[in-house]
Amino acid sequence: MKKSIIECKDVYFQYEHSTVLEEITLEVKEGEFWALIGPNGSGKSTLISIILGIKNPDKGIVKLFGENVDSFRQRERIGYVSQKSNSFNSGFPATVLEVVKSGLTGKVGLFKAFSKQDEQRAMEALRIVKMDAFSTKNIGELSGGQQQRVFIARALVGKPDLLIMDEPTVGIDQKNVASFYSMLNGLNREHGIAILLVTHEIDLVTDLATHVACLNRSIHFHGRKADYKNMDDEDISNWYGHPVRRVHADREGV
Ligand code: ADP
Repeated sequence: MKKSIIECKDVYFQYEHSTVLEEITLEVKEGEFWALIGPNGSGKSTLISIILGIKNPDKGIVKLFGENVDSFRQRERIGYVSQKSNSFNSGFPATVLEVVKSGLTGKVGLFKAFSKQDEQRAMEALRIVKMDAFSTKNIGELSGGQQQRVFIARALVGKPDLLIMDEPTVGIDQKNVASFYSMLNGLNREHGIAILLVTHEIDLVTDLATHVACLNRSIHFHGRKADYKNMDDEDISNWYGHPVRRVHADREGV
């Protein structure tokens, strides 16, 4: 039986007096690729903060790898890439390899002491995202999409079992988005890394994902991608808050 990686049970959260999450129940198991989708302001980032243990829910239980999030200490099992990762300007004085190595937990900043093995791990992570040829380049010289791949390599360097990404395609040229998703597909299928990808997009990523969760304060649907695809656009529109029409292209093999 597949093991549970993320488990949220009846989670509630409010900012001051406004409830932004209610009755959130969701389970991600090993090897699954979840797209967590919802319009802007639907609570996606807040839920991710709760899953990462940054915010405490007002009510409910959150478990990571079967352990309560409050006592969870296996930080290296989770790689996280935030929405604003890829924003280095051209003057930033760090090479691609240095940025990736900084993802090794406990080895950040002035007191780092990287071994040859750390360097090899960083190069391996760069190979996975097909950015090894850029290892000596300055991070600021890269395009948004290339920087985002480097940040994924940084998240992968500790060999996580789960990768959480918040709107990772923001700042990536539209023409490069498909190849970016194809790389994520490989991470999931070939390397067995579970993925939780947060996005307001409703098409491309849901074709790649194995499972979909629709959030707008509460979870309106969660389950297998095939069941999401079988839902009427009208149901999706009601949940999303405005009319949507999904493109039903099958990008399974991208
Ligand atoms: P999403 O990631 O789906 O865009 P968020 O989780 O960022 O949604 O926000 C959910 C709701 O909570 C929004 O209405 C937002 O305005 C509100 N919100 C987010 N952060 C705060 C905060 N620090 N204080 C008060 N309200 C907030």
